[in-house]
Amino acid sequence: MMKRVDITLSEDQIKKLKSLSQKGGMSFSKLIRRAIEEYHKAGYRTKEFNKGEPFHGSEDVMDGKLTGLTDTDYFYFFCPKCGDTQILQVLDFGILKDGPVERYKKERPKAKRDFTIAFELYCPECKLHDFVKVSNIGWAGGKLKDGWALKAK
Ligand SMILES: [Zn+2]
Repeated sequence: MMKRVDITLSEDQIKKLKSLSQKGGMSFSKLIRRAIEEYHKAGYRTKEFNKGEPFHGSEDVMDGKLTGLTDTDYFYFFCPKCGDTQILQVLDFGILKDGPVERYKKERPKAKRDFTIAFELYCPECKLHDFVKVSNIGWAGGKLKDGWALKAK
């Protein structure tokens, strides 16, 4: 059975992998195995999330389609299919990364750690079942409207 593991590598780790592959003599499968070793070394966790089954946000949540708002200081995701602020249930979460600051150190000197948290979302109305990630190692500033995903629309 195939399992999908989402991994995020730091720029230093990518540099290391690039230099390894440029030196040659390393097969693709070896390179991938090395990438996974680097991933584990950096403190990335593959906590049992979604019962270890593959997960990734679908088209329904991408490109600005998933929105939400705060009520008090709690944040609520809205169902992208039902609209009209239909609230999604958050069934579970998984910590995919929690470690020292490695990415974009210059751009965010005040960051205290690197993290990525995945949320499993469910709509009791239309039965949408999806995933979204919140992370501090993606965009470090700027305006999302200038991003490639929305620009392409
Ligand atoms: Zn819905």
